[in-house]
This record gives sequence, C-alpha cells and structure tokens, in this order.
Amino acid sequence: MPMPIGLPTIEDPVITARYPFLPQARSIIKIHMDANNIDIQSLIETEWLEEVRERARVRLVESIVHKDIDAATSVDIHTPYGQMVECLSFLYAMVTVCASFDERLLARWAEGESSRADQLWGSVERPEMFQELASTYLSEVRFGESGDWEVPMIDFIELCPKISGPYWRLPNRPVRQGWVTMSPSGNENSQQRLSRLLKERIRLELIDDCRERMERMDEEFAGKMADEVGRILGLLQHQATTEVSFTATDEGDWPPCMSEISTQLAQSVNVNHVGRVFLASISRVIGLSEDDAHAFFKQAPDYSEETTRYQIAHVYENEYTPHGCSKLQINACCPVSRGDVQSSLCSKEWMDHPLKFLRAKQRSKHRDDQITESAENSQTPQ
Ligand code: SF4
Repeated sequence: MPMPIGLPTIEDPVITARYPFLPQARSIIKIHMDANNIDIQSLIETEWLEEVRERARVRLVESIVHKDIDAATSVDIHTPYGQMVECLSFLYAMVTVCASFDERLLARWAEGESSRADQLWGSVERPEMFQELASTYLSEVRFGESGDWEVPMIDFIELCPKISGPYWRLPNRPVRQGWVTMSPSGNENSQQRLSRLLKERIRLELIDDCRERMERMDEEFAGKMADEVGRILGLLQHQATTEVSFTATDEGDWPPCMSEISTQLAQSVNVNHVGRVFLASISRVIGLSEDDAHAFFKQAPDYSEETTRYQIAHVYENEYTPHGCSKLQINACCPVSRGDVQSSLCSKEWMDHPLKFLRAKQRSKHRDDQITESAENSQTPQ
C-alpha cells in the first residue's frame, strides 16, 4: 500500500479531535490519557468517563444505522475537555468493536467513520488544510495546473477497484505523467471526488488497525466489555432484520450476479466456492426455504445431496451475510464487471452490495404500486 514516507504534522487539537481516526491523533490520545491518568481499564470502568462512553455509543449507533456521524456534536471540541471526550470516545468505540470480534460490526463502524470523513473533508475550506489531510493517506497529492486535485496513479489504481461507477475506472480518468486528475463530476467538485477516494484508504486503515488490536486482545478484557458489545450487536442484528426484509422477492428483481450463478448451476457449470456461498446466503436473506436453495445446486457437476444439505444448513443456521460486490467481482462472479451484462443499477456509484440492488428494486416497485393505486383512485367515479 503506497503511503507517505512521513506523516504531515497536524498540531491543531481541534482537527485531531474532529478526526480522531487520523494517525496523527494517536499521540494526542495518549497525551489525554496520560494527563488524566487513564488507561484502557479505567476507560471502561471509571464513573467520570461516562460522558466519553456515551459519546462512543452515539458514534457506534450512528454508524450502524447509517446516519452520518454527528458532524455538529454537542461536545465542544474547541475546549480541552471537549477534545479529550471526542478523542477518547473514538478510542472507546474502537475498543468495543474489537472486543466484539464481529466482522460485520467492524465493517459497519469503519464505513461510518470513513463516510464521515468523506462528507466533512469534501467541504474543508482551506486548501492547505485539505492537502495535509489528504497527504496523510496518499503517497503524494498536488493541486494541478488544471485547477483540480491530482493523485499518483499507483494510489488511484489501488483504491479505485473498491469504488463502483465509471468515474473510478482508470481509462475514464485524465492521466498525465503518472498523475490522475480528480476532475469534478456530477454535482461533486474535485475536492469531493478526492475525499471519496480518501474514504477508501481511511476505511481500510481502520479495519487493519482493528484486526491487529483484536489479535492482541485477551479474553478477560473482552469479557469486561461483554455488556457493551451485547448491546451494540443486538442493535446491529435488529437493524439487519429491519433493512433486509426481502421475503417473496420476485425472480425478476434478483441482481444479475444471483441470476447468473443460479443459471450456471442449472446448466451444470462448475461455479466456484464464493459463488455458491453467495447463492446460499442470499437465498436465505430473500426468504427462500432451505429446500428452495438446495434446488439451485441439483444440476451442479459435483452434486451430492448429503453435502449440499449440510452446507446449506450451515449457511442458514449461521446466518451468513451475502458477499458484497467487490468480493464477487474479484472472484469472477459479477457478470456486469466482466461486461457480459448491462445493468443501469449496477453501474451506480453507490452500488457495492447485491442487497442494495434488491432494496433499490423493491423501492422502485413500491413507488410504481403507489402511482398505479393513485391513478386508479382518481379514475373511480365519485
Ligand atoms: S455489481 Fe454487484 S449487484 Fe451488480 S451484478 Fe455485480 S456483484 Fe451483483
């Protein structure tokens, strides 16, 4: 991963409090802890730190329900106390995520924190400040002669596969002497486009950082966090159930990847492991029975009734979440990314998960139903 050789110095404590995920904030967090005689143990137990824990819970909840993490927090980050609360709440939220050892929670939290950066950095008013923030996550960044931000091709190539949409394909970007121009697009200016790219690096860094902490975390400590973790996992589960109620989804609403994998299996094509797990897990999410899911696999070239039943039961019992688009793309399970199938929904920038495809289909169907209903009502004689 190309990274800057040295991190830019960020001395403004308001900046590190506003963006406590910055690597430069680590030493500040340590200073807050030392100055207040706090260690990780006291962070989870000490009474006077309840405000820190409260703020951390808000951060976690907002990332789970996909609300923007409060940009206008009630904590006044212009005061030393507010800076401490904001920095330590980030740390407490991170420790809670690590103590859960739950990849879904980790992904959701990292997405929430990095989306917040994307949103806030796009509107940073001082270009030199934005450049410092961007330079923290890219090997280099510069303001080009064109008046747009430019990034080294190596950074762009590494990060762009994680972002959907034609803008993020290298052949669609102006490239000059190894620099990629982040031109404005749609209603976003160059800074907002670059912030979107930076979001990916922040998200990946947070995930890597948490995984390292998970490896170091001992069970006794994780046990002390059990109540906190239980609450947040309960919310995550509830949110997943609320968001995903696709029961009785029509076959015509299936995302192209699901249609293709099921068709391939019906034609005895040997679908890879990722494709099979995806098909079983998305079948569960859309409310198909285990028997229905099993039926997809009956023509597979290596079909064994016993093994298939066992594996589908395993996916259903453990409530596997279907893979996202990037995993399916890397494993050749996405007909759209291969150019075999056209889909206007799949080419949307926000499309990063087949469940979003289903949700978008259901929303548009719901809208159509309402239009039909109101048209019928208006034709009914009074
Ligand atoms: S873009 Fe995503 S939802 Fe669409 S076919 Fe590919 S993997 Fe499936």
